[in-house]
Amino acid sequence: MHNSVNTSCLSCDALEETCLHALRDCPKVAAVWRSVLPLELEVKFFNIDEVTLWLERNLSFSVDWATKFGFAVEVIWESRNEIDLLDPRASSPIYMIMMIIIRYEDFIRAHPSHKLMMRDHIQPCSSDHLFKWRPPVDPWLKLNVDGAIDPCSKTAACGGIFRDYSGRFVLGFSVKLDMEYYCSIDEAEIWGCLSWY
Ligand SMILES: [Zn+2]
Repeated sequence: MHNSVNTSCLSCDALEETCLHALRDCPKVAAVWRSVLPLELEVKFFNIDEVTLWLERNLSFSVDWATKFGFAVEVIWESRNEIDLLDPRASSPIYMIMMIIIRYEDFIRAHPSHKLMMRDHIQPCSSDHLFKWRPPVDPWLKLNVDGAIDPCSKTAACGGIFRDYSGRFVLGFSVKLDMEYYCSIDEAEIWGCLSWY
């Protein structure tokens, strides 16, 4: 009896699904890379034949690209794993590009000092560049909100808290929103503010 393992690509029928094929060269994946690649990398990117070297080169190009590259590899790898589950989104380049941009922008928003770390944006580190919560002037209240979106289930949510001049919690809310169409996190936060009362 002869046992064999199918090593061909489930997405394009290439004879051998190597690491580099799955992460970079499979046609739909290559299309994703071409739309997120920095211009300076376009030629070199597809000409490296060794996966470790390919990872090293990209992770040391610039902090900004290394960050986006990391999210792209993560999204592409997750999508490859879902081809088996026959999820039609898994092989959609548009879906992968959208997920890469959303995760990258969420990361930048969550790490406001990120730009200070970029090698090509080195500037004197000043506390003015960092975000810090400041209380409102009495008798005003300050509202801070945080929104999140899930394009898969077409839902969004937003939560917020009001605090007074001394930073004391006054009131909080959270709302779940149904998205008929794709909306950004900023839009989810605005709809959250308009919907909760
Ligand atoms: Zn393939």
